[in-house]
Amino acid sequence: MTTTNNIPRDGRLNSPWQKGILIPGDDKKKVRPENTYDCLIVGGGITGLTAAVLLQNEGYNTIVADANTIGFGTTGGTSAHINTFADTNYKEAASAFGEEGAKLFAEAINEGFDLIRSNIDKYKIDCDFETKPGFVYAETDKELSFLEDMFEGAVKVGVPVEYIEDVPTPVKYIKALKWDGQAQFHPVKYLKGLQEAYIAAGGVIAENTLVEGVTNEDGVLIAKTSENAYRARNVIYATHMPPNINVINFEAAPYRSYVVAVKLKSDAYPDALVYDCQEPYHYIRTHVIDGEKLLLVGGADHKTGHGDPEKAFADLEEYIRKYYDVASVEYQWSSQYYIPADGFPYIGQLPFAADGIFCASGYNGNGMMLGSIAGKILSDLVSKRSSKYEKAFSPARIKPIDSFTEFVKENADVAYRFVADRFNVDEIDTLKDLPNDTGKVVEVDGKKVAAYRDEQGKIHVLNPVCTHAGCIVAWNGEEKSWDCPCHGARYDINGKVLTGPTTRDLPAINIA
Ligand SMILES: Cc1cc2nc3c(=O)[nH]c(=O)nc-3n(C[C@H](O)[C@H](O)[C@H](O)COP(=O)(O)OP(=O)(O)OC[C@H]3O[C@@H](n4cnc5c(N)ncnc54)[C@H](O)[C@@H]3O)c2cc1C
Repeated sequence: MTTTNNIPRDGRLNSPWQKGILIPGDDKKKVRPENTYDCLIVGGGITGLTAAVLLQNEGYNTIVADANTIGFGTTGGTSAHINTFADTNYKEAASAFGEEGAKLFAEAINEGFDLIRSNIDKYKIDCDFETKPGFVYAETDKELSFLEDMFEGAVKVGVPVEYIEDVPTPVKYIKALKWDGQAQFHPVKYLKGLQEAYIAAGGVIAENTLVEGVTNEDGVLIAKTSENAYRARNVIYATHMPPNINVINFEAAPYRSYVVAVKLKSDAYPDALVYDCQEPYHYIRTHVIDGEKLLLVGGADHKTGHGDPEKAFADLEEYIRKYYDVASVEYQWSSQYYIPADGFPYIGQLPFAADGIFCASGYNGNGMMLGSIAGKILSDLVSKRSSKYEKAFSPARIKPIDSFTEFVKENADVAYRFVADRFNVDEIDTLKDLPNDTGKVVEVDGKKVAAYRDEQGKIHVLNPVCTHAGCIVAWNGEEKSWDCPCHGARYDINGKVLTGPTTRDLPAINIA
């Protein structure tokens, strides 16, 4: 297993995108807290840097603040497929938002795709961008009906797709679709290119700067950070989920997704992007890292804090070994994405917040295209230009009836966790029973604690109550993190925030 870790990420496992990439870092010396910036962009992933480059190049005076470093979030742990189709298929989009809504969604996906391509050309970004065909196949009758819906929906909105006989997969399928002109790239090399373009345009980046919240003081937005405060006329929360308690917490549910990268004994690597229709689905693609070709296989998704990460990796590896002759497992990592309650992303003014505070979330597994188009939409809104997507993607939209069930289900689950997890504890009486390199929520002297015993035997004890909305965190033994099953906040073994929406660490408990 590769252990080099050049840029940090929000988990213990390494993705191949972190390796060997020296990104420019921040330049806090250039921050002018006395200035009122035109726009503060919070978050240095694909959404934040896309918006930042667009605004700074338009002549706005902007600043990017990231609680960690560029690429620390999901963009550093993605699988970086760039598609003309999406997890909400165009038939589903039409049934929830009408045919016009589905067409608009297809335009957004395509425009996001084109923006990536044009940024690569314009800023000469060397990020392994390659165009490849995409194949989606069905193995059962139930999956066939899903595939047919995918086809029908795409044809209606004018996205090119065709039925095809030959798919580069060893899996037996009954019918398949081919989408020409799909693409893949190295997401962190792309971020690096955006970052360089932003700095060249005069942009300022403040890393290790957590934005705790934003208030409106006499018409100026004041963003309180861990060190001081930034003044801005507009704030974009490009944080994947806006921080603290807000309406998006209840509109988009956090999911973990897993990727395993292997070397094969033979050259049976497909020169394509291949997806099945299972629930959750698997996808396969290749990437050359350090001159070595790797097969990347992803899937095994589950709601954050609910599944078993160890089993997810084991299932994925078993799946790969069933179909391919694996020489070695080179990487395995997981990351987090957000499923929107009604299928469309939430991009625009943050409801119930001061005017000029914008957010972008709920991209599902399509954040390369949707994060890019979000950057464009939000730069339009900051510039007071209208955007044709503003209404459809508004975070304040009223949801269609048929998606309401999903909304109720996700939130009923949050309520359940809030109560049930307070009473469920692992049956460990004393911390002595906790094996090395393991974490558990246990009871000590009648008090519930989140305890982790590290590889050297040292115990780290935390208050297990998530600082976001008060649910009890669950141990993630693969990423060595405490994950909240309600809204997806995550913490490291010392309680430091890894993933929002919380902005406050889990307090340590002294049990000596
Ligand atoms: C395993 C996996 C595979 C995926 N594969 C694909 C794919 O193939 N194609 C595709 O299109 N999409 C894919 N996605 C989805 C896509 O990767 C994400 O939607 C996208 O990367 C999100 O980018 P972002 O910039 O919005 O957020 P992030 O990349 O998560 O960046 C958010 C940044 O905000 C910072 N931050 C958070 N809170 C604060 C705060 N309070 N103050 C300051 N900074 C803060 C974080 O440190 C982080 O750097 C995948 C997702 C997963 C999990």
